[in-house]
Amino acid sequence: QRLGGNQGLRFRPALNVESVPDLGLLNDLRTALTSGDQLELHYQPQHRLGDGELVGAEALLRWRHPQQGMIPPDAFIGLAERHGLMASLGSWVISQAAAQLAHWHSPELTELPVWINISAMQLFQGNLESTLSSALHRHGLPAYRLGVELTESVLLDERAGDIVGRLQGLRRSGHPVALDDFGTGYSSLGYLKHLPVDKLKLDRAFVQALPEDPADVAIVDAVVSMASGLGLQVIAEGVESREQRDHLLQAGCQLAQGYFYAAPMPAEEFERYGAQLVAH
Ligand code: C2E
Ligand code: CA
Ligand code: CA
Ligand code: CA
Repeated sequence: QRLGGNQGLRFRPALNVESVPDLGLLNDLRTALTSGDQLELHYQPQHRLGDGELVGAEALLRWRHPQQGMIPPDAFIGLAERHGLMASLGSWVISQAAAQLAHWHSPELTELPVWINISAMQLFQGNLESTLSSALHRHGLPAYRLGVELTESVLLDERAGDIVGRLQGLRRSGHPVALDDFGTGYSSLGYLKHLPVDKLKLDRAFVQALPEDPADVAIVDAVVSMASGLGLQVIAEGVESREQRDHLLQAGCQLAQGYFYAAPMPAEEFERYGAQLVAH
C-alpha cells in the first residue's frame, strides 16, 4: 500500500500528539536552512591549563528562531536527524566554520583549529571527508584547522561497522579527531586502544563536582593517566571554577574549556577575545 505526501503522514503510527508541534518546528528549520540568516555558529575558547594559552575553539550551532528566539542545539539536532535534515545542517556547519576561519585575519587566530561536532549520521553517510575537503579548498585552508568531535555514543551505533576506518581516513587527511562526552557512552576501554583519535573530551558530568566528590576525583585522575599512557590528550569540558581548573591541572589534564574561561560567543567577539589575550 502506497501512501503519498501529507496524506500518508496522517496514518503513520509515529505521529502522536507530541510530535505535532515538531512538524511546525521542522518546517521552520527547513526555512532556516534555506534562508541562512537564522543559523549561527558560536565559538567557545579552549585553553591550555598550564599557561592559559588559547589553543582552539569549539563551534556550537545556534538557531535564532524569528518567533521563539534562541533555540538550543539539543532542541533541534535530534529533529534534524529524524527527518533527514542532518546532512544539510552538517554541511552548513562545515562551510560556515571554514568561511569563518578564512575570515579571521588576526595573527593570534590564523593557526588555531576550530572543532566542529559531527553527528553519527554524518559519519556514516560517506561524504563527510569530501564535504570537509571542498570547504577547506574553497578557502585555501589546511585540514588541521578543522577538527572533528564525535560523541562517544556513536561507538555504540550498530552502523558503526567501520568506524575505525572512517576515523583513520579523517586523520590521514589531516583532521584532528576528538572523542566527545568521554566517560558517558559506555565504550569499552579495550576498544579505545584501537580507536584512531587524538583527544578525549572529558564530560562535564565528571568535572562538575571537582574537587569535593572523591569518586569524581578518582575517575578524573584515572582517565587522565590512562589517556597519557595511550598517548592521548585530555580536554576537560564544563570547567566553571578556579578550584576545578586547579584540580585538573594538578591531575595532569592538559586542556580545558568552560565558563571559567568563557562561554561560547559570536565570531567577531571571539576574534576580540583572542587579540585581548595576547595584549595582556
Ligand atoms: P557538547 O558538544 O557536549 O557541547 C558542550 C555544551 O556545553 C555546549 O552546549 C556548551 O555551550 C556547554 N558549555 C560549555 N561550557 C560550559 C560550562 O562551563 N558549563 C556548562 N553548564 N555548560 C557549558 P550547547 O551549545 O547547548 O550544545 C549542546 C550540544 O548540542 C553539544 O554538546 C553538541 O552535542 C550539540 N551540538 C552543538 N552544535 C552542534 C553541531 O554543529 N552539530 C552537531 N551534530 N551537534 C551540535
Ligand atoms: Ca562537542
Ligand atoms: Ca562534549
Ligand atoms: Ca557533554
